[in-house]
Amino acid sequence: MSEERKTLEQRHQMTDLERLRHSAAHVLATAMLRIWPEAQFAAGPPVETGFYYDVELPHRVSPEDFERIEAEMKAEIKANHVFERVPLSRDAALEMARSGALGALGPRPEASKFKLDIIQGIPEGEEITIYRNGDFTDLCAGPHVMRTGNIGAFKLTSVASAYYKGDERNPQLQRIYGTAFKNKTEMEAYFTMLEEAKKRDHRKIGKEMELFTFDDDVGPGLPLWLPNGTVLIEELEKLAKETEFAGGYDRVRTPHLARESLYITSGHLPYYAESMFPPMELPGLTNPETYYLKAMNCPHHHKLFAAVPRSYRDLPLRLAEYGTCYRYEQSGELFGLMRVRSMQMNDAHIYCTEDQFEAEFNAVNQMYLKYFQIFGIDKYLMRFSTHDPAKLGQKFVDQPELWVKTEEMVRGVLQRSGINFVEVPNEAAFYGPKIDVQVWSAIGREFTIATNQVDFAVPRRFGLVYKTRENTEATPLCIHRAPLGTHERFIGFLIEHYAGNFPLWLAPQQVRILPIGDEEPLLEYARAILAELRGAGIRAGIDAGTDKINGKVLRAEEQKVHTMLVLGRRDLDAGAVSVRVHGKGNLGAKPRAEVIQDIIEAARTRRA
Ligand SMILES: [Zn+2]
Ligand SMILES: [Zn+2]
Repeated sequence: MSEERKTLEQRHQMTDLERLRHSAAHVLATAMLRIWPEAQFAAGPPVETGFYYDVELPHRVSPEDFERIEAEMKAEIKANHVFERVPLSRDAALEMARSGALGALGPRPEASKFKLDIIQGIPEGEEITIYRNGDFTDLCAGPHVMRTGNIGAFKLTSVASAYYKGDERNPQLQRIYGTAFKNKTEMEAYFTMLEEAKKRDHRKIGKEMELFTFDDDVGPGLPLWLPNGTVLIEELEKLAKETEFAGGYDRVRTPHLARESLYITSGHLPYYAESMFPPMELPGLTNPETYYLKAMNCPHHHKLFAAVPRSYRDLPLRLAEYGTCYRYEQSGELFGLMRVRSMQMNDAHIYCTEDQFEAEFNAVNQMYLKYFQIFGIDKYLMRFSTHDPAKLGQKFVDQPELWVKTEEMVRGVLQRSGINFVEVPNEAAFYGPKIDVQVWSAIGREFTIATNQVDFAVPRRFGLVYKTRENTEATPLCIHRAPLGTHERFIGFLIEHYAGNFPLWLAPQQVRILPIGDEEPLLEYARAILAELRGAGIRAGIDAGTDKINGKVLRAEEQKVHTMLVLGRRDLDAGAVSVRVHGKGNLGAKPRAEVIQDIIEAARTRRA
């Protein structure tokens, strides 16, 4: 797979921070050339957490070199050079690259070979520019900050290896990563957040709390859910099912695989084949038959729409399923629960008329907002990707009126409901506008959890129709939505968000009763409370061991049990319990009935 070249238009959508970070990449190259003048630079874009520059260099760069490079970078920033933009002809640019002067401090004996190759890839007619800061010159379309001195704070972070243009047939380069910020305060806050994120790493907490595991015999990227993690899954599904039921959804179930022909109809094959598990050949009656594990639920749901004659009275039809999908992620891309090969998706497809679209889309958004409130997600952003009329028929399905109409409706709904969104032109899916939903965890780390898509091409490919009021046939629109994303990614997010200290309704172990001592009347009291709690559906247990109460409390705290009910002789006599909540400490003795009622209520209402 090769990395796609950014269009000029995409480049000019860089945020201020991205500009600053990309500028820092130029400063990094400037600094490295002062130390290693023979360095051959390839590409140096901003990335989510900072920037990198890919470089070919005989010296193996290691973190021990960072101090030296950073010192040179500081000098370049202190010099406060202007980033000077110089347009030039293709021939002049090629000449500079041949003389080794691009990505360099001046002409060199060796040509700037990667820059030469990049120039040759620039489409005819596109303007070519170079940028200068001090004596460093780079082939670049920009944009940058005004001066090197605008880079307020930076730090080199790591070195990795990467193939030129991401293609393993190309030379292997060293990728030097760094990050940069407007000022020191912002950079320090970022590193503090990273420290906290390390403590909250979902892989670490997942192991400590026995939530999930991976096994070599089962295969990489295929999570196995232990009982505690299964509780999280089932609570999320309960929430989704209740919410979707109230929203008028119908539940369906579909198999995990299908014949090749389904994915040819949907258009996943051949284009998406790389992301699907390799096909299975089954002996057929005449010829072998080819099956695929499903990478998404949509085609199966479309077949359910088609299974029954539909009329306008059936619409909107909302088909929901926590469907399991399989995607063949490269093994190098797998990462805990965040990148997996099997995933359970909070999926639904809403089939509706154009007139119903606005209300349906609004209802989906309201569902998101409800979930954000339940999970205490204060910061979120909806990235609304729209089409580019110039690319109809190539990048975007050629239905100009439907694009304009649905985009206007989506925009209107987003504006009226006061939802926090940005519009990103030219990034829509092939078959309709989409919305990527980003959320920030309690410590301020960003996650992309879900995508909504409007689809006005695929229902036609599947020949989906309904009878209109006028008894004619029409094709419905389809909204793909998955507010809770996949269990894997969403639980990965929740683990970090809560640092494993889940609210009562989600906590795998909600209540533990801790008798002080093992006298029979006390144990009997404990068992009665246990029966009452479990009878109300509360995940409660007793620690009836003979060890000291401090040991029992410590164990429960370590296992992140949400509520501890400590029972002593005095509690028994008074019909009370002493309540202790994980992370909050001792809340004192209270009447038994009151405590039990409160626990049941907190779980039922999903209290934070
Ligand atoms: Zn640049
Ligand atoms: Zn779908």
